[in-house]
Amino acid sequence: MTKRNSETLSDPELGMHRVIPRRDFLNGAALTIGSALLPDAHHPQNSKSSAEEAQDRPGYNPPLSTGLRGSHPGSFETAHSLRDGTFWKNAPSPQPLSEKYDLIIVGGGISGLAAAHFYRQRAGTNAKILILENHDDFGGHAKRNEFHLGGKLQLLNGGTMLIDSPTPYSAEAAGLLNKLGIDPVALDKTYTDRSLYRSLGLGTGVFFDRETFGSDCLVKTPRGIEEDGSSSGSADAHWQTFLENSPLSLAARRDLLRIETQSVDYLPGLTSAEKKDRLSRISYKDFLLNIAKTDPGVVTFYQTRTNGEWGVGIDAEPALDCWALGLPGFQGLNLEPGAAPHMSYSGAGYTNGGSPRFHFPDGNASIARLLVRNLIPAAVPGNSAEDVVTASANYAQLDSPDSPVRIRLNSTVVRARNLPDSQNPADVEISYATGRDVFSVRGKACVLACWNMTIPFLCPELPEKQKEALHYLVKVPLVYTSVALRNWTAFQKLGVSNLYCPGAYWNSVSLNWVVNIGDYKSPRSPEEPILIHLSRTPCKPGLPAREQHKAGRMELLVTPFEIFERKIRDQLARALAPGGFDPARDIEAITVNRWPHGYGYEYNPLFDPDWPPGQAPHEIGRQRFGHITIANTDSGATAYTDVAINQAYRAVSELM
Ligand SMILES: Cc1cc2nc3c(=O)[nH]c(=O)nc-3n(C[C@H](O)[C@H](O)[C@H](O)COP(=O)(O)OP(=O)(O)OC[C@H]3O[C@@H](n4cnc5c(N)ncnc54)[C@H](O)[C@@H]3O)c2cc1C
Repeated sequence: MTKRNSETLSDPELGMHRVIPRRDFLNGAALTIGSALLPDAHHPQNSKSSAEEAQDRPGYNPPLSTGLRGSHPGSFETAHSLRDGTFWKNAPSPQPLSEKYDLIIVGGGISGLAAAHFYRQRAGTNAKILILENHDDFGGHAKRNEFHLGGKLQLLNGGTMLIDSPTPYSAEAAGLLNKLGIDPVALDKTYTDRSLYRSLGLGTGVFFDRETFGSDCLVKTPRGIEEDGSSSGSADAHWQTFLENSPLSLAARRDLLRIETQSVDYLPGLTSAEKKDRLSRISYKDFLLNIAKTDPGVVTFYQTRTNGEWGVGIDAEPALDCWALGLPGFQGLNLEPGAAPHMSYSGAGYTNGGSPRFHFPDGNASIARLLVRNLIPAAVPGNSAEDVVTASANYAQLDSPDSPVRIRLNSTVVRARNLPDSQNPADVEISYATGRDVFSVRGKACVLACWNMTIPFLCPELPEKQKEALHYLVKVPLVYTSVALRNWTAFQKLGVSNLYCPGAYWNSVSLNWVVNIGDYKSPRSPEEPILIHLSRTPCKPGLPAREQHKAGRMELLVTPFEIFERKIRDQLARALAPGGFDPARDIEAITVNRWPHGYGYEYNPLFDPDWPPGQAPHEIGRQRFGHITIANTDSGATAYTDVAINQAYRAVSELM
């Protein structure tokens, strides 16, 4: 146990003066390769900018960029002006390109890349495919953060973290992984090291922040050492020690101990099915307060436990889904295993097991890179799931006229339309903005693998009902931050490898996964530099889930890098200073992956109706529109890589 009543540190003490690569694009200093040219995206008087060709320049390697990443400045302004109705007022008429494609795909995430793969499977490898992506990198949420610390490559996921789904991968999704050389079970068994941190005595801890809990305090959790949840000795005794060291009130400690360790039937007289039904209609917060009758301090302790899964706290998540996720308090209810009606996709899935799990060092960016290798072999050299981790991508090969598949980055699609039958019955015309130019290009068909809520702006001719349905899908905002540290001796001294931070700005802080795959080796000694992962899910507890996501998105759009940086330095200092951590000395680099449009929206039984089959917004929204079909996880109403692939498969099948 470690305690510290820290004072607020000054900017110099936090290291805000330190020279690290910083980019506060909100203040207009967009330095990202390629995106530097985008803010002027539609000034008719300007000559053709080189934004489109930026990816061909030597040294172009977006994963190396630090500062504000994710939906980086330069990637979204065009789409927002389209949404606001200002784009076409200022834009030049699209210049028609002479290129012709069999398929044009909007969105270079896993769904878009998988759509290209499935199309080639059916149409043949000579099929001409263009993928247009508004970010400066491919992969969508599956983004790679790359650092070279002390001369050694270190990787983290900037978004999509791992192969892990509440349901087993479908034949199509598993088949695609197999084709790419990914066997998650074998990879996990061979390359994931779950013993290193444990062997050093590190486990999980809770950081109680003074704004929420009265004093700053880091306490190792009772299950600190054992990742599987087991602990030596009496669980009660471990919890008691933990609680005594916490700043929680006596009443909160008493009730938390009960919730964690005692088997109480809080709904006596009901069958398992009746209990499940009841729990599916109330939040976990309500369950704790009104059914288990706990002190409100218990709610504060668990408030953000669901944020990583659904992007909102326990005020907006059904108790039954929280049972499925493994939150405590249900031990004595004798609920039968398995899903019940009126559960979320993830909640229902997790009760029945799930998919295998594997984390590549850069998360599912390795899947995106393997897909690109499959589509354009010259762009990502190598031939195995192992060697892709350290392979250097050659971005100059992505949009080569010699390749049947081309990936064009920094290109925001602004219109997708079926051409009138009189012109050519099988033609679509796609317009996109890049740099200061707007181009149009034709194809026989189009898959929109982009965020579904942008589609009404790209295709204003869609039926009103479909547009309304597409707007319903509010994506979940998230921030995943990678921080490079000089060493991790503070973590070692404090005995923690990851922290749950219930009230703090960053909900969690963790040392990087230990994965040794191919030529990639994770750090082993606490004296070595390391990457840590911090996550934040901005939301507004008390509002309905979709309103919370909208509020969180607004927050992200107005938060400059400097604020994120100060929050990182401040929280790490307050949690880790007792272990000798000095933010001014120990932080080497920061990459804030800001995802205002993060997870695909998953229906929440507390707020969304049970739609009749075929009538849910994602089903109405994803209807084929002439030669245009719709993919992306949004059209599966959830946020998993297997769903991105499944939706790509469906969208391509609808075209063929
Ligand atoms: C922080 C985070 C963590 C996640 N972790 C996991 C995880 O661990 N496991 C998991 O299975 N899933 C995870 N997910 C879910 C993830 O969304 C999916 O797994 C998958 O990567 C989504 O792929 P996609 O292609 O459907 O969408 P995206 O990855 O969002 O790709 C769509 C692309 O289309 C682009 N686009 C949008 N509009 C336009 C336009 N007008 N013109 C051109 N391009 C456009 C977007 O910018 C984007 O790059 C995570 C998501 C986030 C945000």
